[in-house]
Amino acid sequence: PTRTRFAPSPSGDLHVGNVRTALYSWAWARHCGGSFVVRIEDTDRSRVSPEAVSGAIDALRWLGLDWDEGPDVGGEFGPYRQSERLSLYREWVDKFLADGTAYHCYCSQEELDGERDEQRTQGLPSGYAGHCRELTTAQVTAYRREGRRPLVRFRMPEGATVVRDTIRGEIVFDHANVPDFVVQRSDGYPLYNLAVSVDDAMMRITHIVRGDDLLASTPRQIAIHAAMGVAEADLPVYTHTPDILAADGLPLSSWRQAAGISWYRDHGYLPEAVVNYLALLGWSPGGDREELTLDALVESFDLERVGATAGRLDPRKLDAINGDKIRALPPDELVGRTMPFLARAGLVSEPPTPEQARTVAAAAPLIQERLVHLTEAADLLAFLLVPEYAFDVDPEAAARILTEDAKAVLEAAEAALRALPDWTDESIERALRRTLVDELGRRPKRAFGPVRVAVTGNRVSPPLFESLTLLGRARTLARIRRALD
Ligand code: GLU
Repeated sequence: PTRTRFAPSPSGDLHVGNVRTALYSWAWARHCGGSFVVRIEDTDRSRVSPEAVSGAIDALRWLGLDWDEGPDVGGEFGPYRQSERLSLYREWVDKFLADGTAYHCYCSQEELDGERDEQRTQGLPSGYAGHCRELTTAQVTAYRREGRRPLVRFRMPEGATVVRDTIRGEIVFDHANVPDFVVQRSDGYPLYNLAVSVDDAMMRITHIVRGDDLLASTPRQIAIHAAMGVAEADLPVYTHTPDILAADGLPLSSWRQAAGISWYRDHGYLPEAVVNYLALLGWSPGGDREELTLDALVESFDLERVGATAGRLDPRKLDAINGDKIRALPPDELVGRTMPFLARAGLVSEPPTPEQARTVAAAAPLIQERLVHLTEAADLLAFLLVPEYAFDVDPEAAARILTEDAKAVLEAAEAALRALPDWTDESIERALRRTLVDELGRRPKRAFGPVRVAVTGNRVSPPLFESLTLLGRARTLARIRRALD
């Protein structure tokens, strides 16, 4: 059965490049009817923090992914945190030491640095040259007497490794260029290559999708699989994806704000849009389809079609997808998604009062067409939600629209609205058109612009007549009066 995994080392916000490999791993498992495993690679405790671990789990859930095995759900091959698997790694290292696949290395950091400098000045390839490969008992005794504590190195066998990658095909690594590498530090802690290989083998992972920055580690990991007794036919299939680039073509390094997944959540992107956009960045179901749901991704996903070119983040395209996904939400769903952003802006309480909930529910359909990001809901709905004493007209809009010339418009609007027998979208529209356009002779833009700015505080707002209906007559008249005074 197909078993894929996502194995983050959470040290901060989940990088969107990693999110994309998680998405592909998940989609492949689901497409094949297999299992998706989440494993936390937290052996480097100086980097991994508990908050980052729960943040990564939250982010995967926010995106709509689910997993069959993982730290929070358990599973038959657990535990799924490497920090809880240390004894397993120790056992394998002991076995490798016993059968000669690995050896103790007593070289000090200064000696290794010296070796590297030497290699550099002579123009030789850098890497451990094998000083401790064949130590005599006397040498070992001497080192121990000096108080040196050994680390453990894996002994790369002679020969070459062929990595089979779904994107790049067969890549041959001559072991002459793969020096013996450290699998366990002198304090007994396992290193990445050891832990990842032991886990992938023991968790029976069949497909590994990850960034191509890890390609150089793959021959080492395959060597560990082989030393564990994994047959060549049972090695995982590798897909090393190129990193996502920023819009300017430069690497999306982690310091850029849009590199981390929470940036998208905070800026009002729907997870559906992020998934849609990232999935199509470097993979295509064929044709020029641009609309994608998680279900459709599962249906059409094929690892073989993951491409070799690095995708570039195109903010405009992502925004277009986000707007489409927002327009496709059922209205009550839009209300639920918008509420956290309104709360963050201080416009509703948490949870919202019944009146706030009613107002937002009534107003959401008015802004659905106009939203590109959920965050914009706060600006568009503020005029309905702020207490009257806090209502303000944007000074720039006031200066441009609430001019001397607008006075006549506002006065006529006030009188017409005050006299209305009922307060509905239609009656408001009819009254304002008649008074301002027909009787006063203003073009619609000149007629309604001042009313919009006076009442909503902005030049951009939800549709005007509906806005006035929701705001109610008393507040509408008070705001027009305020603009006149
Ligand atoms: N834990 C590694 C990382 O986040 C990735 C492991 C892997 O996919 O092989 O960099």
